[in-house]
Amino acid sequence: MTGSPTQVPEPSATATAPPMIAMKDVQKHFGELHVLKDINLEVPRGQVVVVLGPSGSGKSTLCRTINRLEPIDSGDIRIEGKSLPAEGKDLARLRADVGMVFQSFNLFAHKTILQNVTLAPTKVRKQSKSEVNARALELLERVGIASQKDKYPAQLSGGQQQRVAIARALAMNPKIMLFDEPTSALDPEMVNEVLDVMVSLAKEGMTMLVVTHEMGFARQAADRVIFMADGAVIEDTDPDTFFDHPKTDRAKDFLGKIL
Ligand code: ADP
Ligand code: MG
Repeated sequence: MTGSPTQVPEPSATATAPPMIAMKDVQKHFGELHVLKDINLEVPRGQVVVVLGPSGSGKSTLCRTINRLEPIDSGDIRIEGKSLPAEGKDLARLRADVGMVFQSFNLFAHKTILQNVTLAPTKVRKQSKSEVNARALELLERVGIASQKDKYPAQLSGGQQQRVAIARALAMNPKIMLFDEPTSALDPEMVNEVLDVMVSLAKEGMTMLVVTHEMGFARQAADRVIFMADGAVIEDTDPDTFFDHPKTDRAKDFLGKIL
């Protein structure tokens, strides 16, 4: 049509933006034990990566190095293009960008559910108390726990506590969420209420790295599966390919045991 403005396509954000997580040649030992062997991993924004592997293969250590809970021997880890600072304010800021949810919920036993969610943002972010409270309530609503806000963690079920732990991590407005076996300590009937929250986060475009043995979640929500054995990433593919056509004997053996 004549006279219409020329359509200039928006430059694709993903083509130019640095990956959310970039691990390059990462090595990590515990004493003699070579626990991360030359890890090279790039996770683009919005990708959901499920990390699988037998016990002791280095999955937790991998997660913990990403927000520097665990130092690395050599290599480089960047979050959105920025190297992890060793300490100080910059590290605190970067940590706030990387939320983590553990197998054990790690809630503060002597704080209420609401306080558990407001504590960190009150300290780190320069926001008013009412802003922090409003956001916390919104997050508790979202994970279906708002009505429990004045209770203490011990008064909640494991599934509810883990949902609070997710809300607490989200309260820092992270860019990345790491989950380390978030449902492994739960009674079976509570697993789905936690996975449902994670699936909705994934659908909203959160960048996620999830260590889990929940193959249903991996099939449903993962964009990518990484399989680790003995500290190395030995398969890295889409979930259907991984589950239907695992390449390595280690992966075949692993799937044979858990499926
Ligand atoms: P995964 O999460 O896959 O089960 P981990 O990352 O927890 O594996 O552990 C990988 C290996 O490193 C295991 O052999 C484990 O015993 C060892 N390991 C983990 N943490 C430590 C530590 N703090 N000190 C010494 N060895 C450790
Ligand atoms: Mg582990």
